[in-house]
Amino acid sequence: MFKVVKLRTLLIAAGVLLAVAVIAVGVTLGVRAKEARAAFSPLPKPTVVIDAGHGGADPGVTGVKTGVKESDLNLKTALVLGDIFASAGYKAVQTRYGEASTVEGAFDKTADMAARRETIRRAEPEAVISIHMNKYEGPSRRGVQVFYTTDASESLAIALQKHLDQTMNVPTLGRGFDPIRGDYYIADNGDVPSVIIECAFLSNPIDEALIIDPDYRLRLATEIQVATARYLNGSA
Ligand SMILES: [Zn+2]
Repeated sequence: MFKVVKLRTLLIAAGVLLAVAVIAVGVTLGVRAKEARAAFSPLPKPTVVIDAGHGGADPGVTGVKTGVKESDLNLKTALVLGDIFASAGYKAVQTRYGEASTVEGAFDKTADMAARRETIRRAEPEAVISIHMNKYEGPSRRGVQVFYTTDASESLAIALQKHLDQTMNVPTLGRGFDPIRGDYYIADNGDVPSVIIECAFLSNPIDEALIIDPDYRLRLATEIQVATARYLNGSA
């Protein structure tokens, strides 16, 4: 009996020790796992706002050959650009995700622009890229051109224009451009680097043929993303 009790006591003691050991290991592992999670928890994603110009009752300019609407091409280009940013680890916020205008009811350009600026303000982005298509009286002008307004936007504008010259303009039309500074409401976002990219001249049939091709839009969007990401990483 004594022996049995002693054995039982020993077994209980061993059991308690084992349980304590298991708990200790468990707690240690739990703490380690937490530390590991903390160490590898992703940093907040950098945000970019992409602004597809026009939309709804405001089609923008139209293609000289096909009559394609600028608002449609802007949206398609903006959505592809957003997807590329998202797959590169950015948060991409669009000022519009569909064909409709940013404001309900009768079209009001002032309200539309204010709604876009409000989206930008709320997103607190690292950069703003507004997508448009260009037009000129004559059919000769071509190419991708970058526009900006503020001092805070100048180096992004220069970096983007330089990269788009090397990858898009020089190969397709043999020349590049300087970015153009002007007073553009959507590109005036205080300290946030903001640019307008006029992706093609819809008044030129060659540019129009290029930009209505989804493969060309994908290439252009890829180069816009690459140059912007390099700029944001400080390696422009
Ligand atoms: Zn436009």
